Amino acid sequence: MLGRVSTEQMTAWVTIDLDAIAHNVGELKRRAGNAEVMAVVKGDAYGHGLLPSARAALRGGASWLGVAQMAEALQLRAAGIQAPVLTWLHAPGTDFGPAVQQGIDIGVPAVWELDEVAAAARAAGTTARVQLKADTGLARNGAYGKDWDLLRDAAARLQAEGVIDVTGLFTHFAYADSPQHPTVLQQQELFAERVADADRAGLAVGVRHMSNSAATLTTPGAAWDMVRPGLAVYGLSPVPDLGDPASFGLRPAMTVTARATVAKRVPAGQGVSYGHTYVTPRETTLVDVPIGYADGVPRHASGVGPVQVDGHRFTVSGRVCMDQFMIDVGDLPAQAGSEIVLFGAGDRGEPTAQDWAEAIGTISYEIVTRMSGRLPRRYVGDGAH
Ligand SMILES: *Cc1c(COP(=O)(O)O)cnc(C)c1O
Repeated sequence: MLGRVSTEQMTAWVTIDLDAIAHNVGELKRRAGNAEVMAVVKGDAYGHGLLPSARAALRGGASWLGVAQMAEALQLRAAGIQAPVLTWLHAPGTDFGPAVQQGIDIGVPAVWELDEVAAAARAAGTTARVQLKADTGLARNGAYGKDWDLLRDAAARLQAEGVIDVTGLFTHFAYADSPQHPTVLQQQELFAERVADADRAGLAVGVRHMSNSAATLTTPGAAWDMVRPGLAVYGLSPVPDLGDPASFGLRPAMTVTARATVAKRVPAGQGVSYGHTYVTPRETTLVDVPIGYADGVPRHASGVGPVQVDGHRFTVSGRVCMDQFMIDVGDLPAQAGSEIVLFGAGDRGEPTAQDWAEAIGTISYEIVTRMSGRLPRRYVGDGAH
């Protein structure tokens, strides 16, 4: 991040609407009924910037923050954010001490991790906050089958000793984006069994949660005590086949813009960019857009990525390079300095992250998250500096 560089000095940048993030969290909270909202801010808040996004989410009504990695959780605390934070993806040998001391909730899927967290709590002379992660069918990071029994028993022992406080129990859906899929119900049933099982073992598990964005929007009965949306916080639809962001009351928060470095007339038959995969069909204007795959623009967008120039839609012409790509804009009077919008909220006719995802065969999650740290973030809305 370049800090406070004015847009006049920037060649390409990402604009983040913090009011949209706050609004989206408010909308998710409304849908979650009595359940709390944990805003998931992993992956640098899905590319939107960890700290400003976290603050906007809290302002919008989130009472928890969720991250994958320990470093992200510690960054939130270092910035003075005191809200409850859950981190859930760690390898053996992680230094759990700072997290234990700073009251960060540690999501634990296995006995090895519980043992390491307990050792850190003993060393610090304090009680660690632990949330147990059950695998109810995603077959990813979570205690599966008999490992659940071992984890439950070890947690009950450590809780009785006062070494850990089990502040939560959670799981994650495999098919929340297909609400009719049989696993959606099966996972809810197995989660209810795990909750009952923890109760029988004498664990007072605190918050019970399983719903990501898709489940929050389409399976409200799975909300339990808290929902855990990520993508929807940033205003994108996790179920594009079922509804666009507006249909769920969401506003996309990210816009990616670049300013043309060069616009030039070329004759018909001119091959464009590496390998000349695009050849001009007639005399035309080519615009050089200074953003490329080093910035997170997928090279798979070569020839297919949608863009908007002066209110008109075009497509990336030829290959995306490391720092730039070209667009054939026909006879549009584009010039050096013209603003090119790659994607945004879509309400000014510009392409959306979902359009980019469809153009290259991926999901909008990947489009926003891959926008690299090299691109300056420009924040607008309440809380922007
Ligand atoms: C990423 C993640 C979420 C949020 O998922 P979305 O689909 O972005 O809402 C929730 N819980 C866990 C465990 C995750 O890894």
